[in-house]
Amino acid sequence: LEPGQIASLLQGKGLRVTPQRVAVMGVLSRRREHLSAEEVFEQVRQELPNISLATVYKALGELRRKGQIRALPVLGRLRFDLTSNPAHHHLVCEGCQRVVDVELGTLRWPEMPPEALMGFDILSVEVILRSICPDCREPSTRQPASNNLQEGAKL
Ligand SMILES: [Zn+2]
Ligand SMILES: [Zn+2]
Repeated sequence: LEPGQIASLLQGKGLRVTPQRVAVMGVLSRRREHLSAEEVFEQVRQELPNISLATVYKALGELRRKGQIRALPVLGRLRFDLTSNPAHHHLVCEGCQRVVDVELGTLRWPEMPPEALMGFDILSVEVILRSICPDCREPSTRQPASNNLQEGAKL
């Protein structure tokens, strides 16, 4: 997204346009993989060298409350995605924990008896495909996946 598009998305939700919010949204829109708060911070810092991690957390929280971004809990860690992206599903590598968008066309909610839904109306369906990426499948080039899994379990 261009800064101008980000500004109008923010204004549409009644959010003040600040350099911090624009930078956070910009970083999230440029990456196909979904970043954690710490990874967003590392990227935003290249544009705004004086920004703190606390400011990035605050911006992410505000954007989330206003529905501009959503948080995907993946292996104990939140990763962020823009809600302006068209509906899609996610591939999650159980080894390195990266999260990648995947287009599966229109995936239909399976037929369920209405009583199983307990009166809830389904608005959308998101599928998380737990998987192993090609990098992690090749054992000679990476750390063993079990290290990452243990780290994830601790969080
Ligand atoms: Zn991987
Ligand atoms: Zn996504």
